[in-house]
Amino acid sequence: MTLAETLRARLQERRERNLYRQLKTLAAAPSPRAVVDGRELLTFSSNDYLGLATHPEVIAAQREGASLGAGATASHLVNGHLEIHARLQEKIAEVTGREAALVFSSGYMANIGTICALVGRGDNIISDRLNHASLIDGARLCGAASLRFAHSDLGGMERQLQRAAQNGGNTLVAVDGVYSMDGDLAPLAEMAGLCRRYNAWLMVDEAHGFGAMGSSDLPLAGSVAAAGLDQDAVPVMMGTLGKAAGNAGAFVAGSRELIDYLVQFARPYVYTTGMPPAVAAGCLAAIDVMLREPERRELLKCNIAFFRTRAGALKLPLMESASAIQPLLLGCEKKVMAVAAELQRLGFLVGAIRPPTVPAGTARLRITLTANHTQAQIEALLAALDASLRAFGASAVPV
Ligand SMILES: *Cc1c(COP(=O)(O)O)cnc(C)c1O
Repeated sequence: MTLAETLRARLQERRERNLYRQLKTLAAAPSPRAVVDGRELLTFSSNDYLGLATHPEVIAAQREGASLGAGATASHLVNGHLEIHARLQEKIAEVTGREAALVFSSGYMANIGTICALVGRGDNIISDRLNHASLIDGARLCGAASLRFAHSDLGGMERQLQRAAQNGGNTLVAVDGVYSMDGDLAPLAEMAGLCRRYNAWLMVDEAHGFGAMGSSDLPLAGSVAAAGLDQDAVPVMMGTLGKAAGNAGAFVAGSRELIDYLVQFARPYVYTTGMPPAVAAGCLAAIDVMLREPERRELLKCNIAFFRTRAGALKLPLMESASAIQPLLLGCEKKVMAVAAELQRLGFLVGAIRPPTVPAGTARLRITLTANHTQAQIEALLAALDASLRAFGASAVPV
């Protein structure tokens, strides 16, 4: 087949299965209002949980940071490592309660790079089935025996730890702290206990936890801190800077030796241009705001509670999530697309999530709440959800 024929056939198949994806073009980042394909909508789809992507101080810091250069001009190890990166790494280490941290250009690269640097042929990588695609791809690429367990199933995880022990080699267990499409938290304290018992290394992806939750001592340090786990219990903590931090990029935090090791062996760190200095400056400003304005996390928490109470009263198909990610499980791809289109007609943008992002038969609306949403805006969304789910006969779908 020619290239054109191959592409056409595969695209056609995707359309027929209601899995074809389309870009929506926004005039600017949601605040949470956004002009989407030329029309103003209220968005409940961004991961900007604290409203920092449009915070004047963060934007001003990026402008200022750009005076250091529009780009880093080389990889970190050549000449692309600036003082501003070093300062950001120190700040991240401090707020995560780790000895050191390393910034990556994206979370996807941080996950692939870290997994591939830590385990390989002769080792084991154990993953939750609902892990983010970047952890899954890291597990595929690294060459270690890839063992998976059902979502948050501690018994299944222990069986895989036993299998890994029989296989020999080192074992890395990688999980999301907050599941990106489900919003639920991993049972991290129990997982850390199992890892200790079986001498496995625990890696937690805090893409949705960093900045949005933590402990009283470390309010930004995510679900790991919320579970009271230190660097010994969770030696590899990864987080992103494009979600609650409102910028772009990611980090891995842990021991000084882990960071030294990743600088040597994490190929997506070594062989890519350094993070633009403006982004590093924006991240530093975002962390400052996060520390200075704890009320943003409080507002987010209130919005989550408000949404769940009202959605529960309307019998919307809520999932077990205490985080800013509040999916409504509809099951069928066609229904999800129809409801999302109806919501857009009513003036709301929510994520319509289908396989392969989520398992077959679990298509869902992915609603994300931020500190910038008002209760009136959430009420308006709930009314629109209620109306559009009714219109498509999708209310109170059994799980
Ligand atoms: C978004 C996300 C990533 C990837 O981070 P990027 O910086 O966007 O590449 C990794 N893990 C999880 C759980 C995520 O949600």
